[in-house]
Amino acid sequence: MSSIFTKIINGEIPCHKVAEDENFIAFLDINPNARGHTLCVPKREINRIFDMDRQHYLDLMSFSYKVAKALEEVVSCDRIGISVIGLEVPHVHVHLIPINDMKDMTFQHKISMTSEEMASLAQEIGNRL
Ligand code: AMP
Repeated sequence: MSSIFTKIINGEIPCHKVAEDENFIAFLDINPNARGHTLCVPKREINRIFDMDRQHYLDLMSFSYKVAKALEEVVSCDRIGISVIGLEVPHVHVHLIPINDMKDMTFQHKISMTSEEMASLAQEIGNRL
């Protein structure tokens, strides 16, 4: 069965898209730790990040770097935290999280944003790419 992220990639379910190229997509996390929490996802569905071949992994990091640079121009924060977990969605994704405090990286504190706010933020970040 396809992952929820493959369904997003195939346009079967919506997302607040920030960026996309031939191999990767970035969209806002639906349940963000912080404003601007973004996921960078390879279009090829792979469960564990270190099962990616080395070049594909490096390309994902390069894509994530570009998105992080745009994100930090738009969202005021101390820095962009990065995390790879994948226990909830077994399809590789890099979490980019604008952080000011260690709690922003714990996935225990969540913020709420309206769909309209998410749509406009995704567009603003995407415009900086
Ligand atoms: P993890 O697999 O533990 O790295 O976490 C998966 C992340 O994907 C969580 O932060 C979820 O909020 C996020 N997520 C799950 N479904 C969606 C979705 N449809 N759109 C955007 N983010 C999602």
